[in-house]
Amino acid sequence: MDLKKYVTVVPDFPKEGIQFKDITTIMDKGEVYKYATDQIVKYASERKIDLVVGPEARGFIIGCPVAYALEVGFAPVRKEGKLPREVIKVDYGLEYGKDVLTIHKDAIKPGQRVLITDDLLATGGTIEATIKLVEELGGVVAGIAFLIELSYLDGRNKIDNYDVLSLMEF
Ligand code: AMP
Repeated sequence: MDLKKYVTVVPDFPKEGIQFKDITTIMDKGEVYKYATDQIVKYASERKIDLVVGPEARGFIIGCPVAYALEVGFAPVRKEGKLPREVIKVDYGLEYGKDVLTIHKDAIKPGQRVLITDDLLATGGTIEATIKLVEELGGVVAGIAFLIELSYLDGRNKIDNYDVLSLMEF
């Protein structure tokens, strides 16, 4: 299946110059969403995954059906102030300024093999911060899966030492 034809490219969203890759036109078609999920499940099942971790919000959309299929848990990574119990946090750079990502302190057991999921790799800042959280809790990043990689932004540089799957490149 040619997944690319189901991505809607929206020019100048959320601001001028950004070519936004809208994946809702993958998600709203059962067979297309399932196909994309199945590719990641296949990749993950070859890597003995114990837990799936994804950053809000689209990391959940990709990661939760994968966790369900693998019959493993899912742990959310969220912006500061969203998770109700004790967290660890990491600062990461945005295009303008900074943001903070958090994960529950007991979300990962040391040594667990973790698959990280997100919809899209752009500059790599979000995924780099997520990796830091997983590793700080003693998790082993056994794979990282995206639907889309923006290869012109070179986010791949930041995660060169990891095992990465992206289903589409733009
Ligand atoms: P980054 O931290 O730069 O790799 O950005 C990653 C996050 O920003 C991803 O989780 C995407 O959801 C979102 N994002 C960045 N650029 C785009 C884009 N061109 N289209 C859609 N989402 C984007």
